[in-house]
Amino acid sequence: MFLGHFATAYAAKRLAPRASLGTLFAAAQLPDIVWPVLVAGGVEKATIAPGDTAFTPLRFDSYPISHSLVTVGAWGAAFGAVHFWRKRRFRDAVVLAALAVSHWILDFVSHRPDVPLWPGGPKLGLGLWNSVAGTIAVELALFAAGLWLALSATRARDRLGRWGFVGLAVFLVLIYAANVTSPPPPSMEAVAWLGVAGGLVLVALAAWIDRHREPA
Ligand SMILES: [Zn+2]
Repeated sequence: MFLGHFATAYAAKRLAPRASLGTLFAAAQLPDIVWPVLVAGGVEKATIAPGDTAFTPLRFDSYPISHSLVTVGAWGAAFGAVHFWRKRRFRDAVVLAALAVSHWILDFVSHRPDVPLWPGGPKLGLGLWNSVAGTIAVELALFAAGLWLALSATRARDRLGRWGFVGLAVFLVLIYAANVTSPPPPSMEAVAWLGVAGGLVLVALAAWIDRHREPA
């Protein structure tokens, strides 16, 4: 899932309006920011296997550290703890940890049964990705709802806050469209490096735009 993870981050603005959108993006993407690093390091394994599910050409052979429910909960708790240590806002820290767990829930809905409960534990997945149309419909609906919640929770301070917000949302939809329509990636290394770089760029963009908005 791609847009769905950003949707939860946007929606979380309603619960934690003072947390930066960049921080919310990072929390919602946390497993997918850790995952490419572990794949590149040979710790976790994925294969380019078009047709594994209808939606993605990737087969997730093993990702117990980045994507099991228990470890995702731990990543989220650690992320929330660091945020609390820096900002002293307990509620925001809880929202950030919950966002990481929301990532697991959305992946559980999307993936075929390859998402572990804990490292070495049973693997689950509802397989929304078996339907391309269903996946796109669910992700677009989530994304629209998340954007609406973020818009109702914040307001622009200046033009960058207004148009940057719109531009970022359009940019995310364009990346998604490119993902859906492009041929399978050339290699897992390419997927990994693009994943890390892309994730960090989006977090930085969101943090920058967020500084030009304020709680409504
Ligand atoms: Zn994921």
